[in-house]
Amino acid sequence: MLDYHLHLWPHSERETPHSLEQIAAYCEKAQAAGVEELALTEHLFRFRQADALLGGFWNDDSVSPGLARSMEDYWDFHATTDLDTYVTLAAEAQAAGLPVVIGLEVDFYQGRMDDVAALLSGYPFDVLLGSVHWLGAWRFDDLDDPVSMGEWSAREVDACWETYTAALEELAASGTCDVLAHPDLIKVAGYRPDSTVEWWDRMAEAAAKAGMAAEVSSAGWRKPAAEQYPALGLLSRFAAAGVPVTTASDAHRLEHVADHADGLRDVLASAGVDALQGYTARVPRPVAIGVPPTVSPGRSVPPTVSPGRSVPPTVSPGRSVPPDESSVA
Ligand SMILES: [Zn+2]
Ligand SMILES: [Zn+2]
Repeated sequence: MLDYHLHLWPHSERETPHSLEQIAAYCEKAQAAGVEELALTEHLFRFRQADALLGGFWNDDSVSPGLARSMEDYWDFHATTDLDTYVTLAAEAQAAGLPVVIGLEVDFYQGRMDDVAALLSGYPFDVLLGSVHWLGAWRFDDLDDPVSMGEWSAREVDACWETYTAALEELAASGTCDVLAHPDLIKVAGYRPDSTVEWWDRMAEAAAKAGMAAEVSSAGWRKPAAEQYPALGLLSRFAAAGVPVTTASDAHRLEHVADHADGLRDVLASAGVDALQGYTARVPRPVAIGVPPTVSPGRSVPPTVSPGRSVPPTVSPGRSVPPDESSVA
């Protein structure tokens, strides 16, 4: 198993020094859950280099000045550290023998992915995740932000899914990234169209055409969506289209590393997925799903779900999650 989506910072923290000890603790927690390999994938927008390159992109969205102001504040809070320092630390973790690959979670910037690719080409990344976190200046996944969440009642759900899917298609076609992270993140706040079939078909086709993998993530179980990303129907489409998959927790702190690994095993089995894909220097390689670790006496059993079933939601649509790292993906 893999945990190929890990952050070193909670969103609530502006600047926290990273350390090898933190990464070693992530690895230990993962290995106890039968997860042998990790990818460190901090958000691109955490770094000053991203701010220098992309800052102000929110002004392209002239429709929503309130959202643009909110995004400007969000970037000001988050884009505070140095990409070189992060990559150096990840490389040091590798050199120290920790089972990690060097990655990044790259956000989608409409019309600007060539600039993003040029910036990232200078770094020794093993894997790049591609994520659609916002549509224009709208952070549709920021459950703690009332301005962003208020937007859900001002827009048609179908139109949101359409715009999200078009963004995902452009992201995939750009060739900038290797893995589509949380592919149906647009469901995060619990708003779904009556039928998702058209958008699922397009998402699977976009990944297949671009030669990208798709991430199977337990993070959705911690959100109002109350379901892994992607939904089983979308995962089955990825499998049918020959799209390889990774597994991931999207943890932003130790507590969630390898979260619901057994639940993800069940989901993979339900979709008939029997292998994963890892990356070295952005070259894919097969990785075994492996077997769950034996539970020894005195250790708590990790939470599991039955095949095809979601775990019970911890929050309902429209309610904000507690103010921790899990508010955004
Ligand atoms: Zn994300
Ligand atoms: Zn993430």
